[in-house]
Amino acid sequence: MSVAANVARIRDRIAAAARRAGRDPAAVRLIAVSKTKSAAMIDEAIEAGITDIGENYVQEAAAKRPLVRGAARWHLIGHLQRNKAAKALGLFDVVHTLDRIELARAIDRHAAAAGRIVPAFVEVNIGREPGKSGVLEEQLEPLIAAIRGLPAIRLEGLMAIPPAGDVESVRPYFRQMRELRDRFGLEELSMGMSGDFEAAIEEGATYVRIGRAIFGERGE
Ligand SMILES: *Cc1c(COP(=O)(O)O)cnc(C)c1O
Repeated sequence: MSVAANVARIRDRIAAAARRAGRDPAAVRLIAVSKTKSAAMIDEAIEAGITDIGENYVQEAAAKRPLVRGAARWHLIGHLQRNKAAKALGLFDVVHTLDRIELARAIDRHAAAAGRIVPAFVEVNIGREPGKSGVLEEQLEPLIAAIRGLPAIRLEGLMAIPPAGDVESVRPYFRQMRELRDRFGLEELSMGMSGDFEAAIEEGATYVRIGRAIFGERGE
């Protein structure tokens, strides 16, 4: 199927999931995750109405973004090293993966120098998986408090990649994420991928990040 047909089908499924949960479908934003996919495919998605693009790596975005002709908001959804903060800000509009104060401070400093305020999310390791990015639940409070003191970052919400599993095993993690989001008085929840976005929406996702279901399988 074409990218445009996939986008249309995903939008229908997003709307249906939102309605099942008594939510306004317009409250769920779709990020098309284009890692490993070409600039031409990204343009195809933008022509199909996609307004938000997600990429995992600074290097890859640096190679592709100049080749993309359509306008979109670019979301960094992969782990970011502090020494790449300046470069990341040159390529991305939104950062979903704040997970330590040193990184947040580096982004704040570069954003302030550029006269920008960067919308950002804190990544939570909701499944407490060793070696996985994100902060543990008990580390959230001090990190959020510190980020809220940074003038060039606007903290919008929380992001997570729950442990792999079938949809119903992942749902409790989505529910916990929503509780954390509400506890900290945040607006946004970035969660849900090709295999589980409907459950994420039913549990409160406001951004879903979808790759394979839009662009096809990756040859990884
Ligand atoms: C790759 C990726 C996605 C998209 O995953 P799909 O299974 O292709 O939909 C979403 N979020 C993050 C952080 C990713 O790395």
